[in-house]
Amino acid sequence: MGSHHQPFSLAILGPGIGGLALSIGLRKQNAQCTIYEAAPKFDAVGAGIGLGPNALKAMELVDPTFAKMYDAIKMGNTSKERQHEQIEILGAEEGFGSLRGWKGGSVGHERFERSSAHRKALLEVMKTLVPEGTVRFGKKVVEIRQEGKGGKVEMRFGDGDVVFVDALVGCDGIKGMTRRAVLQDRYPEEVAAKYANTYVYRGIAPMEEARAIMGEYAEDARWWMMEEKGWAMYPISEGREANIVAFIMDRKPWVGEQASREVSREEMLAEFVGYDKRLQRLLDWVKPVKWPLFHHPDTPTYINGRVVLLGDSAHASSPSQAAGAGQGLEDALVLSRLLGLVESADQLDVAFQAYDAVRRPRAQNVVQQSLEVGTAYFLVHPEFGNDLQKLTDDANKRLPLIWWHDLEGDCKIAKNYFRERKEQSGTKTVLQSNCILRSFFRKDMIPLVQ
Ligand SMILES: Cc1cc2nc3c(=O)[nH]c(=O)nc-3n(C[C@H](O)[C@H](O)[C@H](O)COP(=O)(O)OP(=O)(O)OC[C@H]3O[C@@H](n4cnc5c(N)ncnc54)[C@H](O)[C@@H]3O)c2cc1C
Repeated sequence: MGSHHQPFSLAILGPGIGGLALSIGLRKQNAQCTIYEAAPKFDAVGAGIGLGPNALKAMELVDPTFAKMYDAIKMGNTSKERQHEQIEILGAEEGFGSLRGWKGGSVGHERFERSSAHRKALLEVMKTLVPEGTVRFGKKVVEIRQEGKGGKVEMRFGDGDVVFVDALVGCDGIKGMTRRAVLQDRYPEEVAAKYANTYVYRGIAPMEEARAIMGEYAEDARWWMMEEKGWAMYPISEGREANIVAFIMDRKPWVGEQASREVSREEMLAEFVGYDKRLQRLLDWVKPVKWPLFHHPDTPTYINGRVVLLGDSAHASSPSQAAGAGQGLEDALVLSRLLGLVESADQLDVAFQAYDAVRRPRAQNVVQQSLEVGTAYFLVHPEFGNDLQKLTDDANKRLPLIWWHDLEGDCKIAKNYFRERKEQSGTKTVLQSNCILRSFFRKDMIPLVQ
């Protein structure tokens, strides 16, 4: 951990998309870290992941090689005329909405290029960009403590090891324990993730079979909708497979553990009665396992002293906008740039404040928006109801705000904030500091909590 060149020691908990991206970004800034992972090896949960233009831009700014390598594994829509479409919106009932005169709605943008990948392939790419020996496997953290302002962070592992570092970045996912370390004292009600009143069934179908059943509908990204239900599907693995996520709205609380739950095939099939027969046939490739969707709609701070949240531990989102991992990549960009400026351990606090001030308003906004979009896609939004045109139009207004965000501008704001606060720390009152903070924000970046 660390070297004589680096004035602070840094641990990252969890080498998921967020943790690996941070480590790649740190390497580019000549900063070092050690990543700790509970599992004995890398293990990608889930199948496909869609990444928008903001996520791709973040990758490029983190490390251009990362973006180039992702280019080699990404998959767009198969049809040339749908390259600029995120999804086509259709009805899930017999005839995909055509019986009620619906011809399909396009969510996209002329500058948008559809891109998705298999998670495993994405993590493989990211792994190759992390220096050998950075990730320590089989190291489950069981306790985090920090003593006093500016004191070391103590990490205790399940195997009895104890490590002290100047700072810890918790990239340990939606259920990660760093969330407790950051929020328990001040916001205990925000520690546990909240049920997003949705569960999903997931599957991967060989494209040949999907095409045999669906025809050209299998080849591009589509979202079939029905009241309180939905079915998203898009090509992955260079078009050899179709990724399926079938959504069920659940008005009841999720009882028991926040974990997937096996059900009988009959129970799963019963959920899709009324769907077009083509979609029902695809259920042969869908696992009868309910995955509850949880999220963190409110996170009043991402920092507590020298412990910081990044990725899903900070802002796990429901997946309606396919934007959750992209927010983790944006976090990694801003935090790595800030840590690259730190010249002594006592500057870490200001760097983390700058990160929280710049990243939290945007990331939390994406979580909230995603929840609302989910309601629209379940056809129960109070304004749009089951009007597919209205909800298509709405998505076309919302998504560009995520996709075309000025990330270089964010880095600049963070950097200026850091430089100014670094010099002023200790000389200004908290009130004055908050005024400084406000002056750094563009109008669209109003902090949620001050
Ligand atoms: C159904 C679904 C579909 C989605 N689709 C998309 C999409 O299309 N596009 C998109 O951008 N996002 C999507 N997302 C969101 C995306 O998957 C997540 O935002 C992203 O994977 C989170 O990455 P992470 O690195 O923050 O956390 P994780 O991937 O959860 O990684 C956390 C890591 O920390 C480790 N860890 C945890 N606790 C400890 C401990 N105590 N000690 C040591 N190690 C520990 C874990 O083992 C794990 O490796 C989707 C999510 C879901 C549920």
